[in-house]
Amino acid sequence: MNTSEKLGNRLFIVVPCYKEQEVLPETAKRLKEKMGTLIGSGKIAGDSHVLFVNDGSSDNTWEIISKLHEEDPLFWGISLSRNRGHQNALLAGLMTAKDYADMTVSMDADLQDDMDAVDAMVDKYLEGYDIVYGVRSSRATDSFFKRFTAEAYYKVIKKLGADIVYNHADFRLMSRRALEGLAEFKEVNLFLRGIVPQIGYPSAIVTYERHERFAGESKYPLSKMLSLAFEGITSFSVKPIRFVYRTGAVIAFVAVIFLLYCLIVKLTGHSVSGWSSLMGSIWLLGGIQLFCIGIIGEYIGKIYMESKQRPRYIIQEYLVDAPEEPSGGTECSTK
Ligand code: UDP
Ligand code: MG
Repeated sequence: MNTSEKLGNRLFIVVPCYKEQEVLPETAKRLKEKMGTLIGSGKIAGDSHVLFVNDGSSDNTWEIISKLHEEDPLFWGISLSRNRGHQNALLAGLMTAKDYADMTVSMDADLQDDMDAVDAMVDKYLEGYDIVYGVRSSRATDSFFKRFTAEAYYKVIKKLGADIVYNHADFRLMSRRALEGLAEFKEVNLFLRGIVPQIGYPSAIVTYERHERFAGESKYPLSKMLSLAFEGITSFSVKPIRFVYRTGAVIAFVAVIFLLYCLIVKLTGHSVSGWSSLMGSIWLLGGIQLFCIGIIGEYIGKIYMESKQRPRYIIQEYLVDAPEEPSGGTECSTK
């Protein structure tokens, strides 16, 4: 559990936004109500904030955030220098909030995550849990395709050995010390759902109903979904690479038997012009080899990216109060 001294209760809700101009005004309104009741009930501190992260949107998202900040000090914002994707935007928000907050809750801008679950998350935090995962109670609002692929994916990634929470996306509460733990993970290939359970500390689960997107379209088309899924597997599991060794071994074994067979056929004088089987095996082996090299290449690509130690995001603008000690720009390359 957390330290025995009284827990700080300054909450930051971190919301990554990519081209969310349709939903932002409504999201801000509802967040303001939620923060109002939480502050009123004394569960969270009066100087709690909502931190919007503009992930290089090409629409009016940043203008809306700036206006919200001007009108109400509850709203803070940071704007990334370009689109870096949901996971990096979320990390930028969490790492910025870390310097101010006692706890953060991350949620999507589209009102799919149930805001009322935040109360239960804060309760869990006050009981002493450092990480509270928002877990969907059902996938009834998903299309059949999304539900099927998502559930299959959770099962596959679990089998491959990555420790992730079933039906949990990125709606979660993290305490300051959990965020400090997260800051120690320097990897460039970010899959927060996989990293957070690795931090450790006491954790709890809060279940919630996931709603339909309030407005606008999903910013996760199939291609992005597949790349996140692939990222999840190759960032957290070495099993695919072991699969390569095993397939190689099995193929080599089969090839030896095949060669023996050919030898026997030849020696007994039944040699036939096995053009089709020859061509077939060349193609088959060529294909399998390419596939295996592809998987190995994926890992080498990852090593390459990690060895570069590139910044994962660069913040261009801040709409926040100055931190006590300047640390918000640590990820920013000044060269
Ligand atoms: N998002 C982002 N950068 C991106 C794509 C998405 O910051 O490149 C944000 C988006 O604004 C939303 C959240 O990530 O707040 C989840 O995206 P979305 O709702 O489109 O995904 P879905 O719920 O359909 O999986
Ligand atoms: Mg969504």
